[in-house]
Amino acid sequence: MGFAVPYTDLANEALLLEGPLAEAFWRVLNSGRYVLGPELAAFESEFAAFCGVRHAVGTSSGTAALLLTLRSLGLPPDAEVITASNSFVATAAAIILAGAKPVFADVGEDGNIDPSSIEAVVTARTRALIPVHLAGRPCRMREILLIAERNRLIVIEDAAQAIGAKLDGRRVGAFGHAACFSLNPLKNLYAYGDGGVVVTNDSALAQRIAQARSHGLADRERCDFFSYNCRLDELQAALLRVQFPLLEERNEARRRIAKRYNELLAPYGEVPEEKPGEYCVYQTYIFKHDRRDALQEHLRRCGIEAIVHYRTLIHEQPAAAEFAHPRQLLPRARRYADRILSLPIYPGLARPQQDCVASLIAEFVGRHTA
Ligand SMILES: *Cc1c(COP(=O)(O)O)cnc(C)c1O
Repeated sequence: MGFAVPYTDLANEALLLEGPLAEAFWRVLNSGRYVLGPELAAFESEFAAFCGVRHAVGTSSGTAALLLTLRSLGLPPDAEVITASNSFVATAAAIILAGAKPVFADVGEDGNIDPSSIEAVVTARTRALIPVHLAGRPCRMREILLIAERNRLIVIEDAAQAIGAKLDGRRVGAFGHAACFSLNPLKNLYAYGDGGVVVTNDSALAQRIAQARSHGLADRERCDFFSYNCRLDELQAALLRVQFPLLEERNEARRRIAKRYNELLAPYGEVPEEKPGEYCVYQTYIFKHDRRDALQEHLRRCGIEAIVHYRTLIHEQPAAAEFAHPRQLLPRARRYADRILSLPIYPGLARPQQDCVASLIAEFVGRHTA
């Protein structure tokens, strides 16, 4: 179905880079080298430098990045890992597939894990903490790192939605022991398909993850442990390198759009204000309103594609039945999930389209408060 204002505009973004993408495509095809080659190595060093971290390891997805990282930590079989329940299901899936148990802490108004709710769910079995930088907003890392230190927990950032975001001038990815990014087409830097990357300053961990993404092989002959095939291929790495120099400019465009939405929409509901020290990259722009479902339907009927990320909390999913704490209610995460609506946001979103979205929201809210 065609929307007057779609949620994203990926095909047009690709068209803007037609020449350089075609050049990169043929460079790789002509090289005859399609996995674990120079494009991946170059992308990894560019990505590590961008985050201000020593190592980056490309993977086949953000989920694989999380899974390989957790598995490479060597967690004991009864380990618990604390994260947020209002994330994409992959955050918890990676914890479970790594043999650990996800435990959820409640969140603040901004949807990110609330540092003050973490210690209430720490037990003797807790080993790691996965703060999710939701919607491109950095979590309160200073407090989180203090809590982690006090309880001897490893911090893995789920930075899938926050490539380029900063807190106090420092990029996300540079705070935790490791950080995982997704390069899926819905994220701010993306492959034309799936991809992911892990960053860390821990050389031994980077080495284990690199080995774990490729069958556990140390070289052609020697397999140190049985593992997956979760590599980022040469073609995707080369195409990512074409986009990478534009990331900051594209993030700036998202920030301008978010700022304008904030100005236009503040009278009609809750808008995502930036707090001091935060540099948000708005992978999603989340507007909050008590009549969210009716508003979403109103926008849909008027040709605006708005989406909910996410309606169901992870611990409420059928898949979580056997893992979830029966008494974990997470009232603030639930209230958050009830009120959020992600509006169209992408670097090429034109001003008239933005104005159209905002005026339809103003009209809806006006009608329901009159
Ligand atoms: C997208 C996403 C993932 C998973 O990344 P994939 O590349 O889709 O596997 C994990 N966590 C969060 C918060 C995400 O948004």
